[in-house]
Amino acid sequence: MRDHTLRFVFYQVFACCLIVGTTLSYGAPLPLTDREWLFICQRNSQALKTGICEVHSVAMKKMSVPIRYGLPAGPGPCEPTYVYRMLFFPHAEMFVEGGGVPITNRTTEEVLICNKCKDAEKNYLLHVDKTE
Ligand SMILES: [Zn+2]
Repeated sequence: MRDHTLRFVFYQVFACCLIVGTTLSYGAPLPLTDREWLFICQRNSQALKTGICEVHSVAMKKMSVPIRYGLPAGPGPCEPTYVYRMLFFPHAEMFVEGGGVPITNRTTEEVLICNKCKDAEKNYLLHVDKTE
């Protein structure tokens, strides 16, 4: 477990280097092993139970967000990948994926939003190199 924590910290430091202005691509996929991915998912699951963001250690607030149905589009060239989101701003998404076909009439879902994740996402989008 300590090895996973060290690699997770490495990725956070790696992201900080990106944010301060290296020329590396923000959208580049980060290589994660299955165990690292499991560790990230377990931390995320725990955060959803406690209401405390696993990345920023702050209380999250409940918000009602729209449910998007249909095939999800992948991230654009200037948008963060799902892995990147899970590592650095996992609670910033202002919608949820509802699957390919609506099976209920529900159009909104309650989710936990972290203001620090929102700030990190905004910072990412401000500094991403849009010429790539
Ligand atoms: Zn957060």
